[in-house]
Amino acid sequence: KQVTTDMATLTKEIEKFAKGKKLEIESLKVRENYRKEFMGNIAHELKTPLFTVQGYVLTLIDGAIKDKNVRDKYLERASKGVDRLIYIVKDLDMINKLETGDLHLDKEKYNIVELIESVFDMLEMKAAKKNISLTFDMDYNDKILVFSDKERIQQVLTNLIVNSIKYGKNDGTTEVSIENLIKNKIIIRITDNGEGIEQKNIPRLFERFYRVDKSGSRKEGGSGLGLSIVKHILEAHNEKTYVESDFGVGSEFSFTLEKLKKNT
Ligand code: ADP
Repeated sequence: KQVTTDMATLTKEIEKFAKGKKLEIESLKVRENYRKEFMGNIAHELKTPLFTVQGYVLTLIDGAIKDKNVRDKYLERASKGVDRLIYIVKDLDMINKLETGDLHLDKEKYNIVELIESVFDMLEMKAAKKNISLTFDMDYNDKILVFSDKERIQQVLTNLIVNSIKYGKNDGTTEVSIENLIKNKIIIRITDNGEGIEQKNIPRLFERFYRVDKSGSRKEGGSGLGLSIVKHILEAHNEKTYVESDFGVGSEFSFTLEKLKKNT
């Protein structure tokens, strides 16, 4: 009798152990697939601009270099391809730092109104190309002091505003607004009246390399890393990111930020 009980216990233990191992193997498999997908994505993203650059360089070597007009045009295109490679590598480097926790946040006190205005200045030309107007509900001498890593928050704002222009319609608008949330929090909203995003695609937006319309996004250029970087930076700050979108109508991306109590 004793033996049967022991056998039963043993069987149970073995089953439990096997189940644990199975789960462990399954989670390893998921991670392995994720790694493979990630590597595949990187290879794919790098291949396109690399082949473009190689194509132009080889054509130049083949003789195109002798014609000044063709030479200038091809060199400029090759240089654009190199720029794109640099962007992708920089984004990857940033993601890697954020994911491994190697990114050190340099928090400081600064005026967020001023920072948003400087991002507007930087992106004015890009917006003008699509005749998109950039509006901000603050006055240029308003002051809202926040405490965060200014450079990283500048990147968050840049990525979100660039997207609102990229996926915005010609003659559209991008509006930035700031609202007090609770006593030491503000929420910054970036609203556009662009192409919008279908509900079913919203949960995946912040994944690395995720793009809703591959061909459409490609035309616009982008690595699908922008929103993933935004999410990571804000998570590192313990802040929240939100998105609301109406397909064909527009999107609103927003995030919270710590405001200094003494705002002077
Ligand atoms: P990408 O480099 O493709 O712009 P992001 O990570 O910044 O990568 O964005 C992921 C995808 O989310 C985009 O490819 C686009 O499909 C969608 N998206 C992001 N912002 C907007 C927006 N303001 N309006 C519509 N779609 C957007």
